Amino acid sequence: MVRAIVGANWGDEGKGKITDMLGETSDVIVRFQGGSNAGHTIINEYGKFALHLLPSGVFYGHTTSIIGNGVALNIPYLCREIQGIVDRGVPKPRILVSDRAQIMMPYHILFDEYEEERLGKKSFGSTKSGIAPFYSDKYAKTGFQVSELFDEALLKEKVERVLEQKNILLEHMYHKPKLDPAELYQTLMGYRDMVKPYVADTALYLHDALKEGKTVLLEGQLGTLKDPDFGIYPMVTSSSTLAAYGAIGAGIPPYEIKDIICVVKAYSSAVGAGEFVSEIFGEEADELRRRGGDAGEFGATTGRPRRMGWFDAVASRYGCRMQGATEVALTVLDVLGYLDELPVCVGYEIDGTVTKDFPVTAKLAKAKPVYEKLPGWKCDIRGIRSYGELPENCRGYIEFIEREIGVPITMVSNGPGREEIIRR
Ligand code: GDP
Repeated sequence: MVRAIVGANWGDEGKGKITDMLGETSDVIVRFQGGSNAGHTIINEYGKFALHLLPSGVFYGHTTSIIGNGVALNIPYLCREIQGIVDRGVPKPRILVSDRAQIMMPYHILFDEYEEERLGKKSFGSTKSGIAPFYSDKYAKTGFQVSELFDEALLKEKVERVLEQKNILLEHMYHKPKLDPAELYQTLMGYRDMVKPYVADTALYLHDALKEGKTVLLEGQLGTLKDPDFGIYPMVTSSSTLAAYGAIGAGIPPYEIKDIICVVKAYSSAVGAGEFVSEIFGEEADELRRRGGDAGEFGATTGRPRRMGWFDAVASRYGCRMQGATEVALTVLDVLGYLDELPVCVGYEIDGTVTKDFPVTAKLAKAKPVYEKLPGWKCDIRGIRSYGELPENCRGYIEFIEREIGVPITMVSNGPGREEIIRR
């Protein structure tokens, strides 16, 4: 059986926590897209961790963690991350890296920086982890697969061929130093030695695991609104953030994904540029950011302050629909206990017409939020473990959101810790 944990919003919904929690009842946990460009914050018995490339289930002795073929694999980063958790007392995790995963090249990171620099004010607000140049090369068929590291003649020839093109761009477009093929080849030999212990045919491994009745968890990065097809293009990421892509990025049949747990944040936050209809500013935003603590203030990868907003039911319903959500985990609800009333964005007004359907980007830019206000509960709900014990207004907020998004909310998260969850 395969479950997917994916985001309905702009990312940072708290997927890491839910994955860490559900890892307990999983055998295999798979990252299927993205790279080290977004972080998951996990708090458990070993301490507090910000993972970027490893699946959030690496803390259990019984799980196998897979870096799927769909991931942008930064090999030195992965090795550092593994060492980093082992150094802090986590048992050495069992990790498999797909032989079909493509490699984040050092120049992808350089091109990401150079391009943002070139764009200046029009930049994408990239995390500069090389993600866009990486996926561009993958689909332009000039990327490097892990398997190619083990064929020295092929690799040498390909490095020369690819750098010929990269050096033209470096010299004439960006006016930056050119790259030396011999040096890059040596770097890749180093990568080969680092990654060798983990390389496997992970699609075959998953096929066998599913045949044996094992439970597999797919961990998504970012959320629907950052998907290249269904998000706020072009202010999106470069690999699909949808559960459907989990089948491709992990190498499993689509019909195996039985449960799609969509993580929805109880208010809105986003890092990076792009349309954000229910965004708030000034003291109102600062207060929410401050109250959010780790959940509110800064992106786990970049340390950039997050943009804040009220709950957006239009975006979240769309976010859940495009994920194919079968259930919802509503997170970070505890942060909202200070508010007298909670505005919820229930519609977008575009050119004088109110819609509840999330539009394409050009229309989104014109959208103004239509708010409905719900009464606050004015207390701290952390520590509560049963739904019935939540204050009435808090339940009212949850049930209002549930009606708006049209998917059952089966879990309510009221704190960052693994145990801070209310199941309904
Ligand atoms: P992800 O990318 O979706 O995994 O989300 P992140 O880990 O980047 O961001 C979520 C942040 O919220 C982290 O700092 C979590 O520790 C924190 N968090 C998750 N769930 C809750 C919750 O229910 N309440 C609070 N206060 N924080 C939470």
